Amino acid sequence: MQTSLFGGADEPPPPGDAAPVGAAGSPEPGEEAAAAEPGWPPAPAGAETPLQPSLLDLAGSEEPGWRRLARALGRQRAGAAAGAAAGAAAAPAAPPSAVPADHPLRRLWPSGRPPEGLGARQRAQALEALRGAALGCTYCPLRAGCRGVVFGEGDPAARLVLVGEGPGATEDELGRPFVGRAGELLDRILEAAGFPRPSVFITNVVMCRPPGNRTPSEAEMAACRPWLEAKLELIRPDLVVALGSTAARALVDPAARITRLRGQWVERRGRRILPTYHPAALLRDPSKKREVWSDFQAVRDAYRALPPRPLREAGA
Ligand code: SF4
Repeated sequence: MQTSLFGGADEPPPPGDAAPVGAAGSPEPGEEAAAAEPGWPPAPAGAETPLQPSLLDLAGSEEPGWRRLARALGRQRAGAAAGAAAGAAAAPAAPPSAVPADHPLRRLWPSGRPPEGLGARQRAQALEALRGAALGCTYCPLRAGCRGVVFGEGDPAARLVLVGEGPGATEDELGRPFVGRAGELLDRILEAAGFPRPSVFITNVVMCRPPGNRTPSEAEMAACRPWLEAKLELIRPDLVVALGSTAARALVDPAARITRLRGQWVERRGRRILPTYHPAALLRDPSKKREVWSDFQAVRDAYRALPPRPLREAGA
């Protein structure tokens, strides 16, 4: 339906020149905690707290799923430590994506990864197969506390993917990502930057709503990680926007602080990733609008500079 992603001139920065964001590491707010909604520039003409169980807590849990995750995380950390000792690249790396032997993704693909060598149409079909498998996932206890798995939506061949934290109440109810107040704001930001929502793919670090919209734990993020990695492998975006600190920790650096990383492009696994604030943070603190708008202008500029995709890749 859209004719051009970037039909309009550069938008003026959004209103709100309040003091810079405060101390580093401020937590991302839950959507329900959001306060007054700020304004946002209109689209060009024409054109989601804290509860972090430790490994020890998990290992001692009565819940078999948590104990299983604790073992997987322990193996993951031991592997990372061994790699560092052996002189592996010391740059802050995205967490390893080893898929546990009992992860449900392996029932779809025994290797834990999508098949290689797929064309664009086959990858879109594989993404649908992935969606079908993910919707039945009960791998971590989050699933017991929500209505259903929110897989994500958008163009299966999007060159831009946005990754948030996890579904909120509205998302859980409707089974779609970013459809609550924060989602409406994200839609306006995307439109203003020249990206109609259907032209991108939107998903979250965890696909099941954490109770009370708290931040997903490390174990929950690790449990859902193989699904996220498989999505990204199939969509093959050139650009990824990490919305908020949880997404930045999952995609860029487990120790990431969004106040330090935001606005800086980083490359991981051949993908250019730009962390910025979660839209829910803007609902709580409108002074962040200017920075987020600047970040999305950078995304727009990077998108414009992308080389055309090879015909074979772009074709169906
Ligand atoms: S959060 Fe992810 S890993 Fe956990 S049950 Fe839901 S889909 Fe499965």
